[in-house]
Amino acid sequence: MGDRQRTVLTPVMATLLGTDYECAAMHMFCFQCQETSEGRGCTFGGHCGKSEEAANFQDLLIYGLKGLGLLSERLIAEGEVIGESTGALVFEALFTTVTNTNFDPDRIVEVVDRVLEAKRDLLARLVRLGKAEGLNDIASWDAPRDKYNSKAYGVGVLQTEDPDVRGLRETITYGLKGIASYAHHAGVLGRYSNETTEFVLTTLASLTKETNFDRLFDLALATGRQNLSTMAALDAAHTESFGTQTPRHIPIGVKRAPGILVTGHDLVELRQLLEQTRGTGVDVYTNGEMIAAHYYPALYAFEHLAGNYGNAWWKQDDEFAKFNGPIVVTSNCIIPVTDAYKDRIFTSSVAGYPGVPHLTRRLPSGELDFAAVIELAKQCSPPEAIDEGTMPGGYSHAPLWGMLDAVLDLIKSKAVSRVVVMAGCDGRDKRREYYREVAEKLPKDTLILTAGCAKYVFCKLDLGTIAGVPRVLDAGQCNDCYSLIHFAVQLASHLNVDINDLPISYQVCWFDQKAVAVYLTLLSLGVKQVWLGPTLPAYFSNQLVKRLKRDFNLRTIGNPEADLALMAAGA
Ligand code: SF4
Repeated sequence: MGDRQRTVLTPVMATLLGTDYECAAMHMFCFQCQETSEGRGCTFGGHCGKSEEAANFQDLLIYGLKGLGLLSERLIAEGEVIGESTGALVFEALFTTVTNTNFDPDRIVEVVDRVLEAKRDLLARLVRLGKAEGLNDIASWDAPRDKYNSKAYGVGVLQTEDPDVRGLRETITYGLKGIASYAHHAGVLGRYSNETTEFVLTTLASLTKETNFDRLFDLALATGRQNLSTMAALDAAHTESFGTQTPRHIPIGVKRAPGILVTGHDLVELRQLLEQTRGTGVDVYTNGEMIAAHYYPALYAFEHLAGNYGNAWWKQDDEFAKFNGPIVVTSNCIIPVTDAYKDRIFTSSVAGYPGVPHLTRRLPSGELDFAAVIELAKQCSPPEAIDEGTMPGGYSHAPLWGMLDAVLDLIKSKAVSRVVVMAGCDGRDKRREYYREVAEKLPKDTLILTAGCAKYVFCKLDLGTIAGVPRVLDAGQCNDCYSLIHFAVQLASHLNVDINDLPISYQVCWFDQKAVAVYLTLLSLGVKQVWLGPTLPAYFSNQLVKRLKRDFNLRTIGNPEADLALMAAGA
């Protein structure tokens, strides 16, 4: 895609990055995830493995989406509806830029092409309506592909120089990425939402114009509210398609047949694979957040859904090597692929990695064709065991609500003193050991509600039960944080108390942009004293942190004993 260029730092950029970088140059800038380089920003390749080219094309994609947002805003004001194909493209495009989703510059460029095409379509509609005046600047960037590379420099995060405005703009942008991920999965299950599309597009448009801190802060809260309804839609879509989650014990060992390992979040593709592998002698295992598949009746009914293999995304190097069979990555997270399994890994849907085969062929029924994966599996050895036994899960809001009387009795009888929500993402940061320590040191009369891959830090510890209820109650994927939030909202309403008066403490273990969307949702509900860790986002400016401390009593993790004492006191 042309020669690599460098962005010379302005004084503002140098301040942001620290004096080490002064007078330097960089090839990219990204600070959207918790593992950003030195806690400030990745500038010469991503700590995640994202290439400079991929990072810059992702910036270009966001830039193109903002242009699409500006055109959409005008159409919506005219009472026009943005079509489903455009909405679905917006969700897919934003999802493509989520950390550890798509590392393939060629695929990202294809999405840029499609966004530009959508822009042309919307502009043509505005012209037909006679409402295209003043849009020349927005419409003018419609560069040929060989100009993408040069355009990609100069459209990224650092174009907003004011750190407070930049911090909120990026917080909102990352919240939108989270919403888009959930909306994408809901759309695949037939729950496309025009309301979500309009919110995302008009918010993208606002991000190009709004500079007022208070109004941006309100927009961040609105993003959290929108995320709640988007997560609710996905929750409903999962339940309609696969049945109500049921608490079960999930095998975490291995069987003797060869297997296919499925990671990511796309339960639809998992079901298609289960149907295509039935009777072939090939087992199917889940990995990471795909563990939630075992909680749904329509999926655990497949006898060859053999178990959950491995832990959180960042352990793929070791665990994918030991799995021995093919691996299918259906969404985030994928990490740099090693030689140990490079010949047996595939991506699908929004996931992508250079040189890794991307599954696109469809059967006449419309299902993704997994024939190549299944044939490869038959030639592979069975997986090597890395765990044995089972772990409990399936505690979404419906089963939790079904246990309400029992839980309330446990609270009244003081058998349960507090519920701690520990949800979100896991990651490589050693400071995440904090969560293991907290789980181990929490009083034995404490229940832990969890969702997302954060659970892998503590879910295999033997933390026991309270009156037969496992102390760690897992609701599933990151989207299933909805269950935990919904349960708290229902409980507060049932008890007629403020949500902050419930004996619940919240620990959001963030890593990527979906977790940021969940954090904004908690704020939008007025939930205070959320503990954010293991670090604060690099894009949170001083003013934003001050505001979050003042209005929401933002807490950051520190010493586990001291934090536990504060949690026990409800402080
Ligand atoms: Fe760095 Fe995270 Fe961006 Fe990757 S996603 S480039 S690790 S900030």
